[in-house]
Amino acid sequence: MAKYIDPKCRLCRREGVKLYLKGERCFSPKCPIEKKGAQIPGQHGKKRSHGRLSGYGIQLREKQKAKRSYGILENQFHTYYETAIKSAQNTGEVLMQLLESRLDNIIFRLGFVSSRSLARQLVTHGNVTVDGKKVDIASYITKPGQTIKLSEKSTKFAFVSPNLTEKNVPAKWLSKKGAEGKIDRLPTRDEIGSDIKENLIIEFYSR
Ligand code: SF4
Repeated sequence: MAKYIDPKCRLCRREGVKLYLKGERCFSPKCPIEKKGAQIPGQHGKKRSHGRLSGYGIQLREKQKAKRSYGILENQFHTYYETAIKSAQNTGEVLMQLLESRLDNIIFRLGFVSSRSLARQLVTHGNVTVDGKKVDIASYITKPGQTIKLSEKSTKFAFVSPNLTEKNVPAKWLSKKGAEGKIDRLPTRDEIGSDIKENLIIEFYSR
């Protein structure tokens, strides 16, 4: 009988890397990639390889990996690229900063929850305010200086409350106290620390 594989874990296996889509499970021995390696899902997965890709294939997979890491659909991802390419600054860095500035990602980077999908759930269910105003759009692009706060109700959620201690440190470019966080500045590329090769994504869209 076929084994059930979580759809999110299938995305990781398809991309051949851990995309950290399942929160704490991703850091445990239960992660399928920890158990079996990054085998492509499906009947013929064992026979298919993540290697031997064309230049186009490598670029495409890098774009897919980024989209899946941040949980973004193609149209929106392409819009971020269009915004980044118009910037006078480094296109790749601006693209990554846009991805990092999404409200759902900020909630995740503040450490309020263990995955971007839980962060998205908090935002879309109306549990987040930005500068005192409720924002329920996960793709909302935040700006340095803004204050992000969780609703009183959400601080009691089992997937939130253990994370509201001082031990849970946010990303370097953010600060937080209890259920309130602040965006101190945009992150540098090094601080984002992802293994996404944004230059390949730029090459993919510039073809
Ligand atoms: Fe599943 Fe997380 Fe492992 Fe990816 S990193 S395969 S989402 S447990």
